[in-house]
Amino acid sequence: MLEQQERFEYCNNIVALFEKSLKKLIKKNAQKYYIGVDLGTACTAIAVFDEEKKPVAGAYRWSNVVRDGMVVDYIGAVRIVKEMKEELEEKLGHSLHYAATAIPPGTMSVDGGVVKNVVEGAGFEIAGIFDEPSAANALLKIEDGAIVDIGGGTTGISILKDGKVVYVADEATGGHHFSLALAGAYQMSLEEAEEFKRKKESHQEIVPVLKPVIEKVASIIMEHAKPYDIKNIYLVGGTSCLTGIEKIIEKSTGIATYKPDNPLFVTPLGIALQC
Ligand code: ATP
Repeated sequence: MLEQQERFEYCNNIVALFEKSLKKLIKKNAQKYYIGVDLGTACTAIAVFDEEKKPVAGAYRWSNVVRDGMVVDYIGAVRIVKEMKEELEEKLGHSLHYAATAIPPGTMSVDGGVVKNVVEGAGFEIAGIFDEPSAANALLKIEDGAIVDIGGGTTGISILKDGKVVYVADEATGGHHFSLALAGAYQMSLEEAEEFKRKKESHQEIVPVLKPVIEKVASIIMEHAKPYDIKNIYLVGGTSCLTGIEKIIEKSTGIATYKPDNPLFVTPLGIALQC
């Protein structure tokens, strides 16, 4: 486990710096800015890196402009990204021109164009469109195993062999389904359940309630990972923030499962890093 934590050191350091940059701008007047925009089902994030590929500024919003990995509110998505861009430009005292983005594995033909249009509609020129697992792996630096991105609407499973993504799948089960389960169990509205779930203090109480949904995610992972004889699973995505989710997945799959300190921002940061 210690070795695994050391492996995550780079990722954890970058994420910690980014979290700092969300509260307070780290650096003005960089020679160059690298920007990643992650348009998600539940969370839209922008990461700004400097010429040394270190995070200097960032912003994120909870939103409902994407569903099951697809943009469903185009105007809303453009508005949110534009607002965040302007907020960052004001903080940096510098206009931001180029941004890269990412899409879930296998959705380039159906949604790649829409995501590109949203980022362009917000005023950026496109610096690249990456696939989410490769973006996440820019931080994780995994050679072999499965990167499992449990997001808001979907769970992306990517199998890596010798540092290359050899298989990808995206299944429509994610944090939204966890919130639905909580809303039912606690007789709350979906919005209340969503907020309750995101609080770390709630986790000890809700994780046992969510165990069947987590086990469902584990069975989805196994469906896809079985033919590949993987030895390790690496969790990213906001839903992976749930305390102890890695232990339940490890028990259900029988495969050693790890996650970085904060799995929520791994993909958006990886997008900026890949520019
Ligand atoms: P997708 O990848 O499916 O398009 P997304 O990019 O919005 O979705 P993420 O930003 O990785 O996904 O994760 C969002 C999900 O993570 C939401 O369902 C949110 O409730 C959940 N989430 C975020 N933070 C926490 C937390 N601290 N505890 C539990 N769940 C969390």
